[in-house]
Amino acid sequence: MSEQVWFSEGLKFECTQCGRCCTGAPGFVWVGEREVERLAKRFGLSLEDFGRRHLRMARGRLSLTEKPNGDCVFWSNSTGCQVYEDRPDQCRSWPFWNANLESRADWDEIAEECPGCNRGSSWSLVQIQEQLKLAPDRSNWPDQEEN
Ligand code: SF4
Ligand code: SF4
Repeated sequence: MSEQVWFSEGLKFECTQCGRCCTGAPGFVWVGEREVERLAKRFGLSLEDFGRRHLRMARGRLSLTEKPNGDCVFWSNSTGCQVYEDRPDQCRSWPFWNANLESRADWDEIAEECPGCNRGSSWSLVQIQEQLKLAPDRSNWPDQEEN
C-alpha cells in the first residue's frame, strides 16, 4: 500500500464494547484452524470439545455458534466479549478491513454503525497495515446476504 492512501496520517479507533457488531441479527464469525486452536486453549478444551460446543459448519466454512437471539456465543451483556484477547481475526481486525478503508466515505459510513471509530486510540498507518494483513478476505467469504 502506498503512502498516498487517504488515511496515511492514521485513524482513531477504540472499541466501546457496545456489542452492536456482536449481537442481534444472525451473522457469521468465520474461524480458521489457528483461531480455533487459540480459543480452545483459552478454555482448556480439546479441539473436538471446543468444536462441539462453540462451532458450526455454515456454507462450507467454520463459524462461531450464536445464541438463539443471534448474539455471538461469546457475547455477555454484562461483561462484553468473553474472549476479547483471543477473539478471531475477523473481530480483531475490525474496522480496518479493505472495504472500510477504500475511501473516507466508506470509513464514515461504517463509523455511523460503529461508535468506536474516530475516537480513542490513534492507529498509525503501519499499525493499520498490520491489521489489514489480519483482516478477512471478503472475496472468499460465503455470501453474507443469504440466510
Ligand atoms: S460496533 Fe464497534 S464499538 Fe461496538 S462492539 Fe463493535 S467494534 Fe466495538
Ligand atoms: S468473538 Fe467477541 S468480538 Fe467476536 S463477535 Fe463474538 S463477542 Fe464479538
